Amino acid sequence: MRFDIISVLPGLLESPFAHSILQRAQKKGLTEIVVHNLRDYATNKQKSVDDYPYGGGSGMVMGIEPFAKCIEMLCAEREYDEVIFMSPDGERLDQGIANELSIKKNIMILCGHYKGIDQRIRDIFVTREISIGDYVLSGGELPAAVLVDAVVRLLPGVLNDETSALSDSFQGELLDAPVYTRPADWKGHKVPEILLSGHEAKINEWRYEQALERTKKRRPDLLAD
Ligand code: SAH
Repeated sequence: MRFDIISVLPGLLESPFAHSILQRAQKKGLTEIVVHNLRDYATNKQKSVDDYPYGGGSGMVMGIEPFAKCIEMLCAEREYDEVIFMSPDGERLDQGIANELSIKKNIMILCGHYKGIDQRIRDIFVTREISIGDYVLSGGELPAAVLVDAVVRLLPGVLNDETSALSDSFQGELLDAPVYTRPADWKGHKVPEILLSGHEAKINEWRYEQALERTKKRRPDLLAD
């Protein structure tokens, strides 16, 4: 699976993709993540990618030309399943969307900045708009990294223990059960006995009950059906 991310601050995306699971996934050839510097596609002498908003008002607006140039160049190279714009007014990212995107081949992601991007970019090129939550960040880079992480960890072969993604919160209708590791007794705070029993069926039953309890308490909306 390939991601092409268009950003005016590509440096912001270096670290998230250079560590841990995302780095391993790229090294194993399971995903390719390419970041494009929007400024390389600027058409004016100053290499600026933003301009004053028509109609006045505060905040700069990212213009159509650099985005169009970069998007058209990429679309001439391969077909994209989605051109996603990260935006607080998009559909809210959840596990269902991550699952859906994890079976696609080529995804392009546009990162906005300042006041946002010229509406015509959204109208002409964008196929999907995704928000990572009801709050406003300064740019689309962190949201893009969140989206890529959520999708890549679902690709077959990315996680060492494949079943671990399946038991995560939101994969079914239940949150994940509590987890413990050594020591079994830390200053009198003990790990639940059942987990030390070696009885797999009973452990699974306990985990199910814990997950159900936790979901009822924290996220009853997930159980509404
Ligand atoms: N004026 C816009 C916010 C611009 S914030 C509005 O009110 O909707 C600048 C950029 O950061 C956005 O274009 C978007 O790409 C990104 N961004 C900010 N918050 C985000 C969020 N919650 N989810 C996804 N992208 C976000």
